[in-house]
Amino acid sequence: MTTTNVLTSVIGYPRIGYDREWKKALEQYWAGKSSAEALQVELERIEIERVRTMQDKGIHYIPVNEYAWYDHVLDTTTMFGLIPSRFEYTGGEVSPDLMFALARGTQEAVACEMTKWFNTNYHYIVPEWEGRAPQLTTNRPLQAYRRVKAALGIETKPVVVGPYTYVRSMKGVSKTERLQVLAQFQDVYSQLLQELAAEGVAVVQLDEPSFVLPMSNEEWAAVQSFYEALRQAVPQLHLWVQTYFEGVSNYEAFVQLPVDTLGLDFVHGKLRNEVSLRKHGFPADKRLALGVIDGRNIWQTDLAAVSAWLETVAAIVPQERWILQPSCSLLHVPLTTQREAALLPELQQALAFADEKLAEITLLARHQSQADAVTTSAVEASAQAVHAWRTLPLRQRPQVVSELAQLLADEEQGTRRAHFAERKQLHRERWPLLPLLPTTTIGSMPQTAEIRRARLRYRRGEWDLNTYETFLQDEMKRWIQIQEEIGIDVLVHGEFERTDMVEYFGEKLDGFAFTQYGWVQSYGSRCVKPPVLYGDVAFKEAMTVAETAFAQSLTSQPVKGMLTGPVTILNWSFVRDDIPREQSTYQLAYALRQEIEALEQAGIGMIQVDEPAVKEGMPLLPEDAVYYKEWAVRAFRLSTGGAAAQTQIHTHMCYCDFSDMIQTITDMDADVISLETARSGGDIVAVFERESYELGIGLGVYDIHSPRVPAVEEMQQLMERALSVLPHDLFWINPDCGLKTRHEPETIAALRNMVEATRNVRAKLGASSTVAAE
Ligand code: GLN
Ligand code: ZN
Repeated sequence: MTTTNVLTSVIGYPRIGYDREWKKALEQYWAGKSSAEALQVELERIEIERVRTMQDKGIHYIPVNEYAWYDHVLDTTTMFGLIPSRFEYTGGEVSPDLMFALARGTQEAVACEMTKWFNTNYHYIVPEWEGRAPQLTTNRPLQAYRRVKAALGIETKPVVVGPYTYVRSMKGVSKTERLQVLAQFQDVYSQLLQELAAEGVAVVQLDEPSFVLPMSNEEWAAVQSFYEALRQAVPQLHLWVQTYFEGVSNYEAFVQLPVDTLGLDFVHGKLRNEVSLRKHGFPADKRLALGVIDGRNIWQTDLAAVSAWLETVAAIVPQERWILQPSCSLLHVPLTTQREAALLPELQQALAFADEKLAEITLLARHQSQADAVTTSAVEASAQAVHAWRTLPLRQRPQVVSELAQLLADEEQGTRRAHFAERKQLHRERWPLLPLLPTTTIGSMPQTAEIRRARLRYRRGEWDLNTYETFLQDEMKRWIQIQEEIGIDVLVHGEFERTDMVEYFGEKLDGFAFTQYGWVQSYGSRCVKPPVLYGDVAFKEAMTVAETAFAQSLTSQPVKGMLTGPVTILNWSFVRDDIPREQSTYQLAYALRQEIEALEQAGIGMIQVDEPAVKEGMPLLPEDAVYYKEWAVRAFRLSTGGAAAQTQIHTHMCYCDFSDMIQTITDMDADVISLETARSGGDIVAVFERESYELGIGLGVYDIHSPRVPAVEEMQQLMERALSVLPHDLFWINPDCGLKTRHEPETIAALRNMVEATRNVRAKLGASSTVAAE
């Protein structure tokens, strides 16, 4: 038998560095504590380090330019000079400072919107189409290619966001205009690729994850001719079109693209892609990049199973035309399990982060190319390990499973005890002093260096519980006073005890584990360390009662209890893959339901169950989304369904397009929902012009992702616009999201302005209602 070497590839790799040096470098620079040169040196060092890691692991096609200083979509925007006019850009190469300004805003110009990258927890900066033609201000992939070649002397595969995906990610392009806008990118993409070809680059990867979304035939035709023109522009260049996160929506059209390698996700789009492959075959003149290792989750792969599955592929596409790779960029998983020192050994064994996934890929490729005793035993060992982990008793909690089954069998358990109209009346009686347009915040207050240090000291055992609690109590006292003094109506305790809103709950529940270094990028320099949900979840003891009750004891204003909702905990954790996601979510809901009961017993009357991540878990395909929404709502209702009618349940959601969510939000049946709106310029208000919403609602009146202090008039305008379509007595005033990332002075200034704006609007409403009464 002749053997061929199966090649390996990586679509993308984490940016942040083993110690989050990337984040630290950026934040130091933004804080004015380091120079532009120092930033560049450090970020380029990390760029090289990551390439070296992939090289050491033996990856054949190593990606470059998917590494960004902030976000790869933003890089594409700046590369094409598509700077929104409010930034007063005058042409030429876009400086890092201008790039950061788009992402973070300045005192003069609001930041660009940020939104979820497909169904991940990564957020990209949304490009804004203003009709100006794109220009190649600089060739970023070429620069990256050169830097790496100069440093390491190796060939790499530049990665570019593909034209269709880029255009589809833009704001300001309606569906009907999309193709016309796409056509305007023909020349810049050709030029970009020509320059790469001229340099001697062999292979370029164009990422087109949008090909998994529903697309019309007309769109496919336009994409086809776009790629034909690219083909003509660079006849010699090896073009590689990469999809991920789902199966491609139109396989037959996809495989006709005039390119050399087609990349498919055989983890998250497995069923679709496999069926298509069997049914339609695969063109004999192209190579197939097979995404076979999960790039979205952290579990070790059963390589024996993958290897067996690959036999079915081999019957359709000969092995010499394969490239093996993870299913998507490894941006979505942490770097390595190697440094974890405090995990259960069984769990540590079961994990595979980015670097371990690289090893899995190279082992698998070796095994496929030429299986020998070494590869065979390694592949078999992976199967045994996965099986042992699946059946490990310490992951199972039969009691919770049976209690939950009983709860789920009774529909009533997921229904509040009174209808909203009745609840509203009860709430009015319970809080008679609450004014029209009550002001509140989303929960967290600025997390100063001092607070972070305090948590760390306690964690490290430098502080005893008493010292730590005293510190937290002082901080709560200070902030209750600040909120009272500003004149906020519904107060919060500030969440100072929480490093992270999901981690905090995970640590107090059974079934979770925590890594020390398992960070992943969420947006910009912000990283999260998702908990690992590895077993059945169980409530142990009250998680938030002490802090909330303490804060409430300090004030006569209501203090809102603050919980993270079941769907969000699920979507922001790495979850087990041996039971359905919804089962884990119901387990979480059951635990939170017990927490709500504990808060009620402590006299807390308003409880917010945050669900900012509901949309993150949304399947990409509309037909799947229907089912997801059903069980997500069911989980939320299971968590809140036990609350007394007198209890006011709040919820909160952030950065998303709510236009298709109103029904879901209504079905959740919370008494008040606060939504992010400020960053989208109040677009959400337009949704309520079309659809009615009859529960309490707070529209975020200012963007908390930027240090900018919004003016009173600005917020007033937003409120007035919203009040023109929403009932006044159901309307709440709040910032867009939690304030933990902001500094104290700007937060206080912004909240003062928010309260002043509210008072102005109240006064006007009061005036107009008197007029109406006369
Ligand atoms: N209560 C959380 C906070 O204020 C909500 C954060 C979020 O929605 N992402 O930080
Ligand atoms: Zn939020």
